[in-house]
Amino acid sequence: MEIKEGLTFDDVLLVPKYSDITSRSQTDLRTKLSKNISLNIPLISANMDTVTESAMAIALAQEGGIGIIHRFLTVEEEVEEVLKVKRSASVMIENPYMISPDQSAKDAMAYMREKGVSGLLVVKDSKLAGILTHRDVIFEGESNKLVKDIMTKDVITAKPGINLSEAKELLREHRIEKLPLVDTNGQVKGLVTSKDITHNENYPNASKDKKGRPLVGAAVGVKGDFMERTEALLEADADAIVVDIAHGHSENAISTIRNIKKAFPNCELIAGNVATAKGAEDLIKAGVDAVKVGVGSGSICITRVITGSGVPQLTAVYDCAQIGKKYDVPIISDGGTRTSGDLTKALAAGASTVMVGSLFGGTDESPGSFVMKNGKRYKIYRGMASFYAALGRKSKETGTVAINDDLNDYVAEGVEAMVPYKGTVADIIKQLSGGVRSGLSYCGAHTITQMQQNAEFIKMSRAGFAESQPHDVDLM
Ligand code: IMP
Repeated sequence: MEIKEGLTFDDVLLVPKYSDITSRSQTDLRTKLSKNISLNIPLISANMDTVTESAMAIALAQEGGIGIIHRFLTVEEEVEEVLKVKRSASVMIENPYMISPDQSAKDAMAYMREKGVSGLLVVKDSKLAGILTHRDVIFEGESNKLVKDIMTKDVITAKPGINLSEAKELLREHRIEKLPLVDTNGQVKGLVTSKDITHNENYPNASKDKKGRPLVGAAVGVKGDFMERTEALLEADADAIVVDIAHGHSENAISTIRNIKKAFPNCELIAGNVATAKGAEDLIKAGVDAVKVGVGSGSICITRVITGSGVPQLTAVYDCAQIGKKYDVPIISDGGTRTSGDLTKALAAGASTVMVGSLFGGTDESPGSFVMKNGKRYKIYRGMASFYAALGRKSKETGTVAINDDLNDYVAEGVEAMVPYKGTVADIIKQLSGGVRSGLSYCGAHTITQMQQNAEFIKMSRAGFAESQPHDVDLM
């Protein structure tokens, strides 16, 4: 039996190359998530219940990456998370929320609160009759007034097709925040808001769909409701579907990919996880648009301890990337990324993007509340195959929170953990992408693709690894 050598991030370094880069701004982090989706930075937040719901996905898209909503939600809940991301920003709102002039101010207030919006268009007989903003209703909670009594009737409007700078000029000139787009018949065709315009200016690097809304992905499993779930998520305009299974080189994964691609041929489909060239090739042949790579590499993962199976992450990425290159299908490195150095090494080894869990856990945007320990703030970060994650799923399905007998058979492949509170994810992304930009420069590369061509790895000894850490000093 031949025993192959497997390496991971701490086993290697990238050999520095001549660089003509004089500033990090000369580097370009644009990359491919999948065959048909591009990102401005190579970062994806993991589809885990302690990492990605809408808040994280919105933040990732603002910075140029993408978040994948986890699947341990009901179909309706997962769809709602996707919709929240999609509604968080756009160039033009296609279907603004509307109300009739004969409804009560109280109803209007409740509707605004429910939808999380600060204004409603007032429409009668399909024609724009007025506009109602939060200011108009704020003190009308107890009154019996109707919308028509308090709305603004002389609404400044524009024709559909107006460009953003013209719309901005109208908003500025009239000192208004909302500009309904109305056709020659008086029918509402859309809405431009100052919030969306400012948002676009504040996040010039954001990753957007064709309608200018944030990109978002959503995960599905390989059993139960995965077809209905996929359909509902696509209906909500999720940009990518991620088939999420621990052992992705399996009949379960391959038949799921085939079924989804057959029913929804235009769906951008990502699947994993695999850790070998053959695994990547089988998923590509089944029809995926990107392959997620990583078995046993995650910070909360005990798959290698429990099953003895896995491939050190750098080798896994490198092997899968050779196949990815052959078929022109991007590879995602998933798990084990602790630093921007690891991230750079994963990209240099052939990954187009990197999926991150623990690095994004413990941020303002990660789901879950804070826990205090020894006076410090933490957030829970747990493996999706951990005992308590499984318990959570079970109690959600059965409506009971008791540890029942069924779980006695459950063999966990993940652990529950805590990560220190880290502030906003935007700050973490800044550090990570800054590190990758410098890493590109050390490889003499302006782009990730150039770095992959230039990359030369050198294996290091334990002494080399020790030398790579701060040493012989007292750290402050
Ligand atoms: P991290 O960035 O090192 O924390 O790894 C995150 C990745 O770990 C996720 O994207 C998953 O691929 C993987 N993962 C999540 N939960 C589990 C688990 O319970 N067992 C094994 N791997 C997991």
